[in-house]
Amino acid sequence: RRVKTEQIRYLLYQSEWHSEALRRVHLLSRMREAIDNHVMQLHYQPQVSLKDGTLCGVEALLRWPDDREGYISPAEFIPLAERSRFIEELTFMTIDMAARQDQLWRQAGLDIQMSVNLSARNLIDLHLPEKIGACLQYYEHQAHHFMLEITESDIMTHPDLALSVMQRLSDMGIRLSIDDFGTGYSSLTYLRKLPMNELKIDQSFIRDYMRNESDRKIVATIYSLAHTLNLHVVAEGVEDADTWQALSTLGVDIAQGYLIKRALPADELLIWAQSLDSGRFRL
Ligand code: C2E
Ligand code: MG
Ligand code: MG
Ligand code: MG
Repeated sequence: RRVKTEQIRYLLYQSEWHSEALRRVHLLSRMREAIDNHVMQLHYQPQVSLKDGTLCGVEALLRWPDDREGYISPAEFIPLAERSRFIEELTFMTIDMAARQDQLWRQAGLDIQMSVNLSARNLIDLHLPEKIGACLQYYEHQAHHFMLEITESDIMTHPDLALSVMQRLSDMGIRLSIDDFGTGYSSLTYLRKLPMNELKIDQSFIRDYMRNESDRKIVATIYSLAHTLNLHVVAEGVEDADTWQALSTLGVDIAQGYLIKRALPADELLIWAQSLDSGRFRL
C-alpha cells in the first residue's frame, strides 16, 4: 500500500513536471510569434512625488495579450525569455516602444521621465549603450529623461561587466535605478562604485508597512543608506493612504503603486495625467 502511494505521488510529480515543462516550451514557441507579430504592448504605471503629488514619470511594463488568458504575466514570461536569447529582442522592442511613446506624449504636452527594466543578460551586451543611444536619438529623446531599472542580483551576476556598461550609459546622461532593493544581496562596495541615481525599495517591505514594525525599520535603514549615497528613493507597491502618509513623513521622494494607479495603456495614461488637478495627484 505504501509503495502504491509513493508510486502515485511520483507519477503526479512527474506529470506536474511534464505539464510545467510543456507550458514553458509552448510559451517559448509562442513568444517567437508574439515578437514577430508585434503582439506585445507596454503599459505605463505612474510615479508621483511624495512631496507634492507631481507626476514625475512612468515605468513601462510589458504586457502580452492572450485570447484565452487575458494577459500572460511578465513575472512568468520574462524569466523564460531571460533563459533564452529572446530577452535581447524583447529589451530592444521595449526600449523602442517606450522611446516612441515618449515622443508622442511630448507632442501632446506630457513631458515626464520614462523608466524601462533591463535584465542581467542585457548588462553583458557591450553594444547596449550605443544601441540605446541610437534609439533615443532617433526619437529625439533627452537622455536624462530616460531611466533604466536594474535589480541588484542582475548587477551582481557579472559585476565588473555590468559596472562598465552602466558607466557608459551614465556617461551618456541616461539615469540608472536599482530595482527591488533589499531582495538581492548587495555589496556596499559595489553600491558605492555604481553610477546610480535612484533606489527603488522592493514592494515586499511596503506591502505590510503599517502592520509590520520590522518592515518599517528596514525601510528607514534603506532610506538613510540611499540618502547617504545621494540617491532618489522610490517606494513601489504603495496601496493605501496611511502608507503614503508615513513614507512621506519619513522623507521618501517618490511613490508608485495601486493607490495612485495600476499600469495603464498609453492613451489611458495620457487621459489620467491630463485629468490631474493642476498636474498633481491628491489623496
Ligand atoms: P518590477 O520592475 O519590480 O515592476 C513592478 C511590478 O509590481 C509590476 O508588475 C507592477 O504592476 C507591480 N505593482 C505596481 N504597483 C503595485 C501595487 O501597489 N501592488 C502590487 N501588488 N503590485 C504592484 P508586473 O507588471 O507584473 O511586472 C513584474 C516584473 O516583470 C517587473 O517587476 C519586472 O521585473 C518584469 N518586467 C516587466 N516588464 C519588463 C520589461 O519590459 N523588461 C524586463 N526585463 N522586465 C520586465
Ligand atoms: Mg521595475
Ligand atoms: Mg521593482
Ligand atoms: Mg520586481
